[in-house]
Amino acid sequence: MKEINIIGAGLAGSEAAYYLLKQGFKVNLYEVKRVKKNPVQKLDTFGELVCSNTLRSTLIENAVGCLKEEMATFDSLVIKAAKASQIPAGASLAVDREQFSGYITDALRSFANLTIIDQEMTTIDPNVPTIIATGPLTTDGLQEAIAQLIGKDYFYFFDAVAPIVTKDSINFEIVYRKNRYDKGETQDYLNAPMTEEEYNKFWTELVNAESADAHLDGERADKFFEGCMPVEVMAKRGKETLTFGPLKPVGLRLPDGTTPHAVVQLRQDNAADEFYNLVGFQTNLKWGEQKRVFSLIPGLENAEFVRYGVMHKNNYINSPAILTQTLQLKSNPNIFFAGQITGVEGYVESAASGIIAGINAARMLNEQEPIIFPNTTVMGGLIHYITHADPTNFQPMKSAWGIVAPLEQKVKKTERKLEYTKRALNDIKVVCKKLN
Ligand SMILES: Cc1cc2nc3c(=O)[nH]c(=O)nc-3n(C[C@H](O)[C@H](O)[C@H](O)COP(=O)(O)OP(=O)(O)OC[C@H]3O[C@@H](n4cnc5c(N)ncnc54)[C@H](O)[C@@H]3O)c2cc1C
Repeated sequence: MKEINIIGAGLAGSEAAYYLLKQGFKVNLYEVKRVKKNPVQKLDTFGELVCSNTLRSTLIENAVGCLKEEMATFDSLVIKAAKASQIPAGASLAVDREQFSGYITDALRSFANLTIIDQEMTTIDPNVPTIIATGPLTTDGLQEAIAQLIGKDYFYFFDAVAPIVTKDSINFEIVYRKNRYDKGETQDYLNAPMTEEEYNKFWTELVNAESADAHLDGERADKFFEGCMPVEVMAKRGKETLTFGPLKPVGLRLPDGTTPHAVVQLRQDNAADEFYNLVGFQTNLKWGEQKRVFSLIPGLENAEFVRYGVMHKNNYINSPAILTQTLQLKSNPNIFFAGQITGVEGYVESAASGIIAGINAARMLNEQEPIIFPNTTVMGGLIHYITHADPTNFQPMKSAWGIVAPLEQKVKKTERKLEYTKRALNDIKVVCKKLN
């Protein structure tokens, strides 16, 4: 029986293992959590959701909703577990996290061809087919082994990022284009102006919003706060602190010549000019709170967040420089990466990349042609993004319609999302057929 090692039994590793086990391969699954947990793990079981208990929207016209449908086409273990442990949460797929993780663990354990090795893996044998799916909190020992394999420069770490919204969702009747003091040849920044009354409301909600503090251990929290203060922490220093900091209005007069009380600046985030980040808004607020509070910013009332601000340790490799679209190392096809460590962001996205790695690992072991998912699908769009983004400034990405190929035909804005979904679900079936 052909063998493969999978390191990490999180969302990506569990999906990859499930696919390979069903194909009859012997899977050696290495997982450290039963001998040493990281600061956010609580369960002994696989596929643990460490923070929120939601796999986000169920609406198929949302990219993440469509992504879940695509995954279900491949008999996704994570989607089956979510459906079996679902709890009411409107249009979100929320789960009971213990049942969810228990389902995944039981499903994997039911295979006789699975060997579970409860240990921290600290070496990678370049000659053994291996999927590395150790997530954003990959242990230090393995980080070193990965850095040796791919080169130190290719391993990233960040503490704080600001949220990103789609340009399409910004209200340009309110937001205006201008650089501070009109410096520079082109007006690159978008500016969301606030009256005093709007600012006061925003400030009150911001300082009272719920933070995701639990994820920061004391030592790390000090580091974040020195170098890169979360916007809500800065706001708590005083009511007007932000108007002397990131929301400073000077040099940003409105087109009518008046100066607003405060201004939130947005900076272009991707070459295609689809995404904008909120300057100075690194934050540790819960994702739901970010949406609620940041949507109070005039012009962002309907903002679609493609990435929320996060402040936690996040190890990821420079995928655009070193990975193929089959999630193999360009320098060694035996080694696959999957999950958040590749630079996809989010539970669902991590699991989806696990399916892709599992499929391509199986095909390599069977000496079959690899499968590249078309970037008309969300699965393919994500992998296309992480393998084609600018390698000099690669940042993790979650699912959004902005990362899939544009529609070929002109479609009314109101119908566009559904059209993306229809095309994606159609094209994913084509991929599925190739496997059968
Ligand atoms: C604090 C925090 C909060 C997050 N909150 C959310 C959220 O609310 N919603 C969301 O969608 N995403 C969230 N994410 C991002 C991301 O989606 C999750 O981290 C997701 O679990 C990633 O899936 P994964 O399979 O790549 O990694 P993980 O689920 O982290 O799985 C990796 C597994 O590898 C194991 N492992 C690590 N090193 C080794 C080793 N050397 N040897 C053996 N095993 C090892 C770990 O114990 C773990 O079980 C959060 C991330 C962090 C760090």
